[in-house]
Amino acid sequence: MFTLNNILRPHILGITPYSSARDEYTGKEGVFLDANENPLGSATPEGDYNRYPDPHQWAIKQKLAPIKGVRPEQIFLGNGSDEPIDLLVRATCTPGKDNILIMPPTYGMYEVSANINDVALIKVPLTPAFQVDTDAVLKAINANTKLIWLCSPNNPSGNLLQEEAIRTILEAADHSLVIVDEAYIDFADTPSWTNQLDQYPNLVVLQTFSKAWGLAALRLGMCFASEELIGIMNKIKPPYNISAPTQTLALEALDREAEKDEMVTTILTERTNLAEILRSLPFVQVIHPSDANFLLVQFEDAKQTFEYLIEQQVIVRDRSKVKLCDGCLRISIGTRAENERFVDTLRQMPRSSQADVSGADASLGTGEDATKPEFVSTP
Ligand SMILES: *Cc1c(COP(=O)(O)O)cnc(C)c1O
Repeated sequence: MFTLNNILRPHILGITPYSSARDEYTGKEGVFLDANENPLGSATPEGDYNRYPDPHQWAIKQKLAPIKGVRPEQIFLGNGSDEPIDLLVRATCTPGKDNILIMPPTYGMYEVSANINDVALIKVPLTPAFQVDTDAVLKAINANTKLIWLCSPNNPSGNLLQEEAIRTILEAADHSLVIVDEAYIDFADTPSWTNQLDQYPNLVVLQTFSKAWGLAALRLGMCFASEELIGIMNKIKPPYNISAPTQTLALEALDREAEKDEMVTTILTERTNLAEILRSLPFVQVIHPSDANFLLVQFEDAKQTFEYLIEQQVIVRDRSKVKLCDGCLRISIGTRAENERFVDTLRQMPRSSQADVSGADASLGTGEDATKPEFVSTP
């Protein structure tokens, strides 16, 4: 049976959080002489930022809750997803004693956050198809495994993790928090795990305003979990962790969900187009199925391709040395024009291995085309 108190570091329960001026008086009217703010205004050409923002971001949570099908008390907002990632480690893991489990290849911040906090890592690689090795995960966890990190759709592979595997882990690992990072969920054709929060007290779901919502510069991450765990995270967060401009802009964005959906549709169309074009290039070996806004693509010579692209000022992410991503570059889906520039640049790439072959797409006799898998948008 899952009990949050068994997962938290013992001293966390007893901590008295900082009580801010805005916690002690929550009314909106009055003469505010309680927070040592500047009463005259701000040293900016426009806008008034002289008052501290709502430490609990209630306006955003009220608007976000019905969109996500959760209660406002099940939402934590952070300075990017980085903040809840770090808070979860700090709330649960005693340095030098506890550990977290990750499944490489995956998002780098889980490991970085563990390292910063002197928390041990257990690594159980995904299968070659980038799926969860459920048996290996359940064998690897121990009494000190506080967090199990799942990323679905996964970065850098792009695919959704199988629902059954996640469910199995949620049910078996009832002495750990199971975190499903859904940074790319808007690009996937599947419901969010936020629907399951009331069923699994050990489930935590991360989402972000950085990708589909187009607000990476604001730094606003969402964390959904039991009201009990959210209460603990609120207790240990910096009091005013979300700035007033960020709160204002996020509220405006939430009124324009349809625009976010339209951008997602455009990006998905471009993803299909780009994958189709890449498939026709002889030096492209594998285009991994994507449920996200990027493609993981294996090239004949990833290093040479990456460096050539950089010279041409086309910047992609080199993942070729990452576990299970041999020879792969990760390519974010751009605008139609950006994707065309990327493809045109690739087409003009000088290829050493092809120096004596005339005719750009002449068969090299390597059987590449025969082994190139069909691109599918969902596994
Ligand atoms: C981009 C990304 C995030 C978002 O991070 P922010 O700090 O919210 O910008 C989270 N998780 C994964 C897997 C990502 O790729």
